[in-house]
Amino acid sequence: MDLDLRSLTHAELSEQLKAGGAPAYRSEQVFRWLHDHAVESVDEMTNIPQGVRDALGTSVPLRPLRMDVVQAARDGTRKLRFRTTDDLAIESVLIPDDDEERDKLTLCVSSQVGCAMDCGFCATATLGYGRNLTAGEIVEQVYRATKLAGRRPTNLVFMGMGEPMHNLDNVTRALGLLQHPWGLHFSPRRITVSTVGLVPGIEKLGRLQPAPNLAISLNATTDEVRDRIMPVNRKWPIAKLLEAARNFPLSHGRRVTFEYVLLAGVNDSDADADRLIRLLRGMPCKVNLIPWNGFEGPEFARPSAERIRSFQERLRAAGVAVYIRSPRGDDIDAACGQLAARTEPGTDLATIRTTRPIPAIPPIPSISPIPWAPTTS
Ligand code: SAH
Repeated sequence: MDLDLRSLTHAELSEQLKAGGAPAYRSEQVFRWLHDHAVESVDEMTNIPQGVRDALGTSVPLRPLRMDVVQAARDGTRKLRFRTTDDLAIESVLIPDDDEERDKLTLCVSSQVGCAMDCGFCATATLGYGRNLTAGEIVEQVYRATKLAGRRPTNLVFMGMGEPMHNLDNVTRALGLLQHPWGLHFSPRRITVSTVGLVPGIEKLGRLQPAPNLAISLNATTDEVRDRIMPVNRKWPIAKLLEAARNFPLSHGRRVTFEYVLLAGVNDSDADADRLIRLLRGMPCKVNLIPWNGFEGPEFARPSAERIRSFQERLRAAGVAVYIRSPRGDDIDAACGQLAARTEPGTDLATIRTTRPIPAIPPIPSISPIPWAPTTS
């Protein structure tokens, strides 16, 4: 999909406006409309002359998201479903802290429609791959959630639908836009990008200045098991993945997060805990244990509370920083791995999957030239 207006960097927006004959100061105004006021139409840019708005909207369309449904869970979690202009559904999740005192508000955003990684335990995988979200569609989830919540989320995690490293060009663009002082001015320390383990993507993310936090969905301690539940492991096995994690640049006090979905009888034994300890030895990291969240289909089960606790205890006794992630918003299918944006029949991604090729994994991200021609107005 071509770039949309909200995907443009400030420099690109300036160029676009200049080509249309608008004075330089317009670019700051337009950028603020897009990223601070989060307009849904160029006609909301009231201090911009109509001619400039029209030229801009015609040369690079805005393609705003439409907020479709907001569901509230008993624990205060809210799931937001959006529709893209080509009528595909994506979801974001707003998660307030369990402890209100801390005032933390985390937003979980999607990076793709569906996902191509095909992890056996994940509901998004059942949708297959739809398409990459543009940077504009990624940041707009944040802006719309901010409006809904009445405040900017304190933390952003790329843990919604999709594999961010499979769409790293647009995710990188989105990170730049989110950090811009004329937009939400997010600190990269408050942003976490989570990956199944596309090694070249991890290397690329680590070269960003500044880099956001990295989370890796490890989920197994042997290649045999990981190959089975996460096909990506056949290309980048555990040793390669952990090498990339060790090489990820960490500024003072930061750690890599490892997510570990606990599946009864698959990856939750004492032997798994011991292997995990060995794998992570010496790495500044923390482990988030995520008891499997169910959905219709696969033959997995969540381990008993007792098993989960003893797995955690074993790691803790060995000095690993380890936390259990309680399922948030599971009564509205908003918990980890439950995002499937199921809607009416007919909009199922399976239809799209058969008509669109899945891009190669991983697309080695590059700073691509901007794919639109300057306008002649
Ligand atoms: N593709 C990225 C971003 C998605 S994050 C990644 O895999 O990291 C979603 C997180 O939820 C991942 O850690 C994934 O392992 C986990 N997850 C997926 N399905 C789950 C399920 N059914 N129950 C619990 N966690 C799940």
